[in-house]
Amino acid sequence: MAEHYDVIIAGTGAGGGTLAHTLAPSGKRILLLERGDFLTRETENWDPGPVFVDGRYISPDTWYDRDGTPFQPQVHYFVGGATKLYGAALYRLRPEDFGEIKHVDGISPAWPLSYADFEPWYTKAEWLYQVHGEHGTDPTEGPWSRQYPWPPVSHEPRMQEISDALERGGYHPFPAPCGIMLNEADRPASLCIRCATCDGYPCMVHAKADADIIAVRPLLGLPNVTLLTGAEVVRLETDPAGRTVTGVVVDRGGREGSGGGEGSGGGEGSGGKGKLEVYHGDIVVLAAGAVNTARILLRSASDACPTGLANGSDQVGRNYMYHKSKAVAAFGKEPNETVFQKTLAINDFYFAGDDRDWPLGNIQMLGKSNAMAMKGEEPHLTKLAPGFSLEEAARHAVDFWLTTEDLPKPGNRVTVDRDGGVHLDCTDTNDAEAAGLYAEFRKILNHIGMAEHHVLHKNFYMSMNIPIAAVAHQAGTCRFGTDPATSVLDVNCRAHEVDNLYVSDTSFFPSIGAVNPALTAIANGIRVGEHIAERLGVSTSALAWTPAQRPAPAEMTRTAGGGG
Ligand SMILES: Cc1cc2nc3c(=O)[nH]c(=O)nc-3n(C[C@H](O)[C@H](O)[C@H](O)COP(=O)(O)OP(=O)(O)OC[C@H]3O[C@@H](n4cnc5c(N)ncnc54)[C@H](O)[C@@H]3O)c2cc1C
Repeated sequence: MAEHYDVIIAGTGAGGGTLAHTLAPSGKRILLLERGDFLTRETENWDPGPVFVDGRYISPDTWYDRDGTPFQPQVHYFVGGATKLYGAALYRLRPEDFGEIKHVDGISPAWPLSYADFEPWYTKAEWLYQVHGEHGTDPTEGPWSRQYPWPPVSHEPRMQEISDALERGGYHPFPAPCGIMLNEADRPASLCIRCATCDGYPCMVHAKADADIIAVRPLLGLPNVTLLTGAEVVRLETDPAGRTVTGVVVDRGGREGSGGGEGSGGGEGSGGKGKLEVYHGDIVVLAAGAVNTARILLRSASDACPTGLANGSDQVGRNYMYHKSKAVAAFGKEPNETVFQKTLAINDFYFAGDDRDWPLGNIQMLGKSNAMAMKGEEPHLTKLAPGFSLEEAARHAVDFWLTTEDLPKPGNRVTVDRDGGVHLDCTDTNDAEAAGLYAEFRKILNHIGMAEHHVLHKNFYMSMNIPIAAVAHQAGTCRFGTDPATSVLDVNCRAHEVDNLYVSDTSFFPSIGAVNPALTAIANGIRVGEHIAERLGVSTSALAWTPAQRPAPAEMTRTAGGGG
C-alpha cells in the first residue's frame, strides 16, 4: 500500500523549501519532490570559468520562443532551486508596489493584500534567512515591525568612497539587505568572501542563506519529512470533476522509488526518461518556479479541464514577468579592490515624482567582476579602454545592477506543446523607463568620478545577450486575486477551482515591482505554510522551531535519491 502524505510539495526553492520548513514542526507527513539533486560542493563552485563561461549549473533544458526558436533558459534545478545561485539580495517590495501604479506602458495592478497585511511575514522571512541590513535607511521602504537580525555588511573602502560621494551628490544610498551568514562560528567571513559575493555562484562554504541550507537541510532528519531528489512532477491527476487532486505523477528519471506510489506506466515524454510513479496526498503544493508550475498545470489537462488544471479562466501561464535588468561595469582610475561589493543600493528613482513622469527602478551593486567572467566581453573592452588588459579592467571595474519593473501582460505567457515543451512568448515592457534609469545612472557616474563613456554592458550575467533566456526573476503565470475570472489563485494561494491545490513560488505575483523577488516568495511561503497548517488543524504557535529541532545543517554531497 503506497504511503499517503498530508502535504506533497513540488519544488524546494524559495517558495517550496520555505513552505516545507514552516510546516515541518507540525508533525504532518510531508513529501518534498525535487527535480534536481543537491548541488555538489566542489572547487568549481567558485570558479568563474565553469560557472559563467561553461554554465555548469544551468539546466540543459530547451525552451522555445514565440517563433519556435529554441533557447537554453537560465534555470537551476537543485535542492534550493534558483537560490543556490542567487545573489541573496533580499528586499521587501515597497508599500506602493501592493497598490496600482501607472507606468509608461500600462498599469502595474494592485495586490489583493496590502503591504501592512504582508509585513509580519516579511519580518519572519528576514529572520529565517538571516538578513543583514538596516531598516530606516532607505527612504522608500515601508514600516517594519522588527529590525533585521544582523547589522548591514559594512562597506569596503572603495564602496564607502562611492557611498560618501553619492551622498555629497544629493542621493540617498543605503546598505543593501543581504542574506549571508557571516556570523556563524563555522562559516568565518574570511572563508566566505572567497567567492567574491555569491552573485551567480553557489557558496562552497554554505554561508549563503539559500533555501537548501536555511530551509530544507534542517528537515532531513525529521521522521515526518521525506525528500525525493531526481523527482520531476510531470502532471497532476484529479477526480472526474477536476476539483480535487488525487495523484501527483512523477518522473524519477530511472531511479527507484522510496516509499512512493504505484507506477502508472512509463514512456511519457517529460524531458526525463524514467518510469512514472504516482504519489498521493491530502494537499498538493506546486512550487516549481513560475514557468514550471504553469507547465505542470497546463500538462494536467483532462476531460474535465481541457485547457489545463485550474485554468477555467484561461489565466494559467499568462502575465509572465521577469524584470528589465541591466548589468553594467564602470571603470574608474582608482582600482577597486572590493571583494564583497553588494553592500550598497539606491532607490532614488523608484517612484515617479520631481521631474520624472514614471517610476524608473532600483540601482544596486552586483558581484565583483573578475577577468575570467569578463572574458566574453573582451572585444568590447578593447574598444572601450584601449590598453587595458582583462585583469586590469576587472581590477578597476565597479559593477552595478539596474532593475526596472516589467508589467504583467496577458500575451506574455507560457504555453506547452504536445510533447510538454515550454514555449515562452514575451514582449518587453517599460523600455522607456529602463532607458530613463540608465540615463540617471550615467549622471551618477559623474558624481562618483567615473566617466560615463567607460561603461561596459555586461552580457555574461543572466544571458543578457538572449533576453528571453534571462528567466532568473521569472514571476506571474498563476497570479493570486479575489476574482476567479482574472486570477488563478485565491488570497491564500489556493487554486480557485481545485480545493486541495496550492501554489507557493513567484507564480503568484500580480506585479513584480523593481526589487529582487526572492524575499517576497519566501515570506509568501511562510504565509501559505501557516495557512495550510491551520487548515490541517495545527495552530501557528505549534510551528515554532526550537534549537533542538533545528540542528546545524547537515554536510551533504550529491545524493542519488530519497532522503528523509
Ligand atoms: C543568478 C541568479 C541570481 C539571483 N539573485 C537574486 C537576488 O539577489 N535576490 C533575489 O531576491 N532574487 C534573486 N534571484 C531570483 C530568485 O532566486 C528567485 O526569484 C527565487 O528563487 C524564486 O523562487 P521560486 O520558489 O519561485 O523558484 P525556485 O527557487 O527556482 O524553486 C523552484 C524549484 O522547483 C524545482 N522544480 C522545477 N520543476 C520541477 C518539477 N517539475 N518537479 C519538481 N521540482 C521542480 C526546481 O529544481 C527548484 O528547486 C536570482 C536568481 C538567479 C538565477
